[in-house]
Amino acid sequence: MEYFPLFIKLKNQPCLVVGAGKVAARKIDLLSRAHANITVIAQKIDSTINDMKTTHRLHIVEKKFEASDLGEFKLVVSATNDPQTNKIVANAANKLNIPVNVVDNPDLCSFIFPAIIDRSPVIAAISSGGASPVLARLLRAKIESLIPAAYGRLAQLAEKYRPLVKQSILNPSHRRIFWENTLQGPIAELIFANRDEEAELQLKNSLTHLTDNKTTNGEVYLIGAGPGDPDLLTFRALRLMQQADVVVYDRLVSPEVLDLTRRDSEKIYAGKKRNEHSLSQESINELLARLAQSGKRVVRLKGGDPFIFGRGGEEIETLMALGINFQVVPGITAASGCASYAGIPLTHRDHSQSCTFITGHLQDGTINLNWQQLAKPNQTIVIYMGLVGLNIICASLIEHGSEPDRPIALIEQGTTSQQRVITGTLESLPKQIAYLTITPPTLIIVGGVVTLHNKLAWFKNTQNN
Ligand code: SAH
Repeated sequence: MEYFPLFIKLKNQPCLVVGAGKVAARKIDLLSRAHANITVIAQKIDSTINDMKTTHRLHIVEKKFEASDLGEFKLVVSATNDPQTNKIVANAANKLNIPVNVVDNPDLCSFIFPAIIDRSPVIAAISSGGASPVLARLLRAKIESLIPAAYGRLAQLAEKYRPLVKQSILNPSHRRIFWENTLQGPIAELIFANRDEEAELQLKNSLTHLTDNKTTNGEVYLIGAGPGDPDLLTFRALRLMQQADVVVYDRLVSPEVLDLTRRDSEKIYAGKKRNEHSLSQESINELLARLAQSGKRVVRLKGGDPFIFGRGGEEIETLMALGINFQVVPGITAASGCASYAGIPLTHRDHSQSCTFITGHLQDGTINLNWQQLAKPNQTIVIYMGLVGLNIICASLIEHGSEPDRPIALIEQGTTSQQRVITGTLESLPKQIAYLTITPPTLIIVGGVVTLHNKLAWFKNTQNN
């Protein structure tokens, strides 16, 4: 180990930054996050530093640095672009045994700045020992994505209850298990969902019911799995998917996404195909409730976003009525995912001022929609579940006033390696696809924005075309 990692207390400690340019500003910002008392010495003060004067409580001295300036400082950073000055600062600090950092000059440093992940009071610091700061930053980005933003508040809750837990659970290994369950179970999830009071209440409850030997209450995570590409999952979705005891998933959830759920979780298929309901909505609602009531952490995984043509509302209504804890995690809906991956912006100043999502699901062979409104120009219409009704949709739009050459696109298996985009007009598309084999799911986009596809298509599938 070339450098030993330490965490230094800088609160109200006098620290010196020599130099007052952009690099100095970044270091000042870091030091002030640790509440240091910062003095800046430089011959020329950048406007950025002047702007920081009050916000960062800076003491600014406009002069050339001299060794005698070091006086009482506990830590020194030299961030000038003059190698001579940097050397003088480093030598003077070393003589007085004051830790010194010279930006971008490891040879003159007695300490280096790590890449920091700040979830105060939890701090993680990463260093490459000066070998590659970019590599350290990339690693930081990876870790950032794994640690929920509210981790700090979780730590504060743990700190508050540490004495009481110590008093209540005398056996150290039992205490460790208690904390492990608390810090990665439903109580932690309540904090991450900004429900701190409930989290605290549950923590207190679990302390008073220690002897009940009862497993913790189960809960349901209603998660949007996005349109297919697993990279489109949210951080929260991924975290909860990896905690699942049971996963109840729909037909639209891609195998790649399902693969990211906890390996040993039980998987229950609740998929529906058109005209073929493998599990009725009522039985899904009941299933979710029953699993949660038996103490399981249930991930309910739905394609796209659960609140867009996903019946997510109905599922949580049942949970709500039964007092079962749940969370809803939004997902990228097919409209956003398919439009992006097809290079079709949903709105555009030249083509479309609004965008409407509709379902083209047939009921008794017809589609009951406000055709008059939808037939008007300068808008985008996104049609979910519209493949079977495509002919009726195109004909109805034309009948209610749309130009027959109004652009339309059919996006098949959007965002996946099998994505295919077929574009045409209201008049031509039904004929174009009549003899093609189309594999669902498909999404339809109508409007002038479709013409941008030729220019903006950027995503190349690996299978067709
Ligand atoms: N809740 C989902 C929609 C469920 S309805 C969401 O927010 O995306 C099912 C319809 O979504 C399908 O019939 C299809 O029209 C559309 N859809 C979902 N995933 C799709 C994909 N990868 N490509 C094209 N259409 C998709």
